[in-house]
Amino acid sequence: MQLKFQGAAGEVTGSQVIVDVSTRRQHRRFLVDCGMFQGGRDADAKNLSPFGTAPKSIEFVVLTHAHIDHSGLLPRLCAQGFTGPIYCTAGTLDLLEVLLADSAHIQEFERRRAEDRLAAGRWRGDLPEPLYNLEDVGRCISQCRPIGFHRPTELTPGIRLSFVDAGHILGSASALLEIEEDQKEHAKPVTRRLVFSGDVGTRDRPIMNDPQRLQQADILVMESTYGDRRHRSLKETEDELVGIITHTMKSGGNVVMPAFAVGRTQEVVAILIDLIKRKRLPHLSIFVDSPMAAAASRITEAHMATLDPLSRELYAWAKANPNAVSLRYLTKVEESKGLNQIRGGAIILSASGMCEAGRIVHHLFWNLPSPQSAIVITGFQAAGTRGRALVDGARAVKLLGREVPVKAAVHTLGGLSAHGDQQDLLWWCGDFERPPAQVFVTHGEENAAATFAQCLKEKLGWEDVHLAERGKVYHC
Ligand SMILES: [Zn+2]
Repeated sequence: MQLKFQGAAGEVTGSQVIVDVSTRRQHRRFLVDCGMFQGGRDADAKNLSPFGTAPKSIEFVVLTHAHIDHSGLLPRLCAQGFTGPIYCTAGTLDLLEVLLADSAHIQEFERRRAEDRLAAGRWRGDLPEPLYNLEDVGRCISQCRPIGFHRPTELTPGIRLSFVDAGHILGSASALLEIEEDQKEHAKPVTRRLVFSGDVGTRDRPIMNDPQRLQQADILVMESTYGDRRHRSLKETEDELVGIITHTMKSGGNVVMPAFAVGRTQEVVAILIDLIKRKRLPHLSIFVDSPMAAAASRITEAHMATLDPLSRELYAWAKANPNAVSLRYLTKVEESKGLNQIRGGAIILSASGMCEAGRIVHHLFWNLPSPQSAIVITGFQAAGTRGRALVDGARAVKLLGREVPVKAAVHTLGGLSAHGDQQDLLWWCGDFERPPAQVFVTHGEENAAATFAQCLKEKLGWEDVHLAERGKVYHC
């Protein structure tokens, strides 16, 4: 078996692994995830570079979850000749339609904006090249084949796939591939288990179930986003959030929360409802200003039966008590612009989560210069993004072509991550009956990946642990 890591090696975006195996005397090639690179100077160039193998040569794709850094290059793969099935869960498929369409819109928008600027003599250098369009997205979606959790499915003779709940976002899965691998000459085939953790969630959090663990793996590809960190507990995070909101509401400012439309927004809403229900916060006016977050919330509610039972109750309570929570989903541009007039008293959740694009840019533009307002960062901010600059204490950021001073208080709520911390990841790895023969640590910036690899060796006694390198072929 051969694994080639095309991304998420020493960084957290661009997840994609090319797997080559020989089973039933046939060579098979498939991909696990096909994510976009996001943030950082060379992301565009990496996204535009040719795939690590001819798309036509790929038989199928296994998709662990819908986040763009795992799925965002799929339409490009299909446009360049991949015609096979894309296996994912039903929840992932529902979210994928929304996320990929949004991704195509953003690319188209950025291209048009650059063309306008070029016409006005305000653009230097190459114009951004869209990676795909809506038509490509439609074709890609039509190639998706949903598979339920815990339903071992034969993808091709000799390769079986099972998904288990990774507890990260709706539909997120860890993938177990059981591969009947040919041996030399006349020896009998040996079944080996290739496991991809996907992104692993946290335990005891709203909306999502706890991640499920696997007991057997011969080869493990393991994420390490927060492999070097501990999150605060949910209780501490709630206390902090109550403190920030109470203080900001008293000072007459707004609380602006850049939040990933999928997952984080629904989680924050659930936490706010819970805090109001427990009377730790007063009545709040919450605006979810993102058409995608609104769509993701609808999809989440449609899948509620499969999600965390406590959150189900909270959402039901909020619906039954409209006087306690004013929760509005804004989809129209005029409604969004209306928020810019509100100087205080609003909780605004908007995307994108790393402050790079979308309506959040406008809310930051209006609220960052206000010392009364608070910006609450609720998710991981990749190096090179505007959100990271805010977390790192930038005194000004460029927004809508202007230098905007950072006068608002910027808070980071680390405890709300959809990614497990070091403890969660070690817990997830701790249920294997035997150490996997080979482990590849991926999806972490260099320090996180290296620290977590060391942890696996020291705490679990695992021996063969590699830091996955981009473009390198590993023989397993
Ligand atoms: Zn993810």
